[in-house]
Amino acid sequence: MYVCGPTVYDLPHLGHGRFTLVWDVARRWFTFQGLRVTYVSNITDIDDNIINRALADQTTEVQVAQHYEQQWWDAMGRIGVATPDIVPHATQYVAEMVTFIEVLLADDVAYLADDGVYFDVSRVADYGLLAGQALDTLRAGARVEANVQKRSPLDFALWKKAKPHEPSWPAPFGDGRPGWHTECVVMSLDLLGEDFDLHCGGLDLRFPHHENERAQAVAAGRPFARHWGHNGWVMVGDEKMSKSLGNFTSLTDLLEKTDSRAYRLLVLRSHYRSPIEISPATIADAERALARLDALARRFELVELAGAHLEVKSDFDWPPSTRDLFAEVVEALDEDLDTPLAVAQLFEAVSRANTLADSGDVVQARHLARAVNALFGALGLALKGGADSVDGISQALVERRDEARNARNWAEADRLRDELVALGWTVEDSGSGTLIRRP
Ligand SMILES: [Zn+2]
Repeated sequence: MYVCGPTVYDLPHLGHGRFTLVWDVARRWFTFQGLRVTYVSNITDIDDNIINRALADQTTEVQVAQHYEQQWWDAMGRIGVATPDIVPHATQYVAEMVTFIEVLLADDVAYLADDGVYFDVSRVADYGLLAGQALDTLRAGARVEANVQKRSPLDFALWKKAKPHEPSWPAPFGDGRPGWHTECVVMSLDLLGEDFDLHCGGLDLRFPHHENERAQAVAAGRPFARHWGHNGWVMVGDEKMSKSLGNFTSLTDLLEKTDSRAYRLLVLRSHYRSPIEISPATIADAERALARLDALARRFELVELAGAHLEVKSDFDWPPSTRDLFAEVVEALDEDLDTPLAVAQLFEAVSRANTLADSGDVVQARHLARAVNALFGALGLALKGGADSVDGISQALVERRDEARNARNWAEADRLRDELVALGWTVEDSGSGTLIRRP
């Protein structure tokens, strides 16, 4: 997966939270299902915004980029987005981009102008594929900019020649810096290879960013992404609402003022292609739902899952009574990642677990509660307030030990207890099964 990352010149905003959560959930689900996922997400560490920010703050572009990249990772950590496997930075890839632009110039699909190098979109037969519009329609709707030497308003910059005092890199077609669209096509092809599976980003990137990435790959004769994923907008409601939203100016602010899991639950409760509304009311609603989940965790002393660790299905045991739930959730998520349906099924299971426990069927109730915990964990949502936070491996040992005890296989139960102790846990027996906590 290649997921277009941020340009680091400001605090992450709410839209950044949406796309990182949506594709984090997809990544976690693929991994849970046993796929081997390589997740690449870039950092754009040079562009006009960074240059302007450095001027305004009287500092350097490098310091702006480093400062806001740190803010980015802090926010990602708090929102529970797992770190990408590879994080390419644009400034580390300039030489590769120069080589790529030379190919496009040699093939005559790019042209030189006084202020840089441009891509000629008329040379790509199916330009407009991702936008879902023909070239003529796109051209008619395009904004004509003054002072640019483009042949067509849709043509885009592959390379911008350096103005005085701007950072620049050497190139045979004039010192300068790469365009954003070139950055992503070069880095994704280099790190994931031709014909990679999935290229993702927000709906705002579908056109022109992704269209232009694809156009360059097509023009260079390089098979590109097989599938594209675009997540919906973040709505902040009407004017009245945005006034009351004054508090949530950035993702960083939102995370300081709310349960950091609330945004993930809102994302899970909407389909990834639909718009999502972030407001004090929707956040409060998500926090109430989280309270229900945490109450389940306390009642059944569930171990805390999710976080940086990506769970896999085989880490868990699925008692027969939970297999229907498991199958329903798998079916929902495998159908274009229908998280709202899966979450609805999981909340129904929460009610069922509580009802079962109320009527005295503690074993079945606990099985169901653990399945709910495991499936929310697979989506990156941790239930809190139960037992100490543990990884999936320890959780699996606990469940295997309970099975061994139920089967009166005391030798196996003792062996599993020793394994847990070796992992640093204090192990206790309770009426509802094995409890582990840190000593
Ligand atoms: Zn991109």
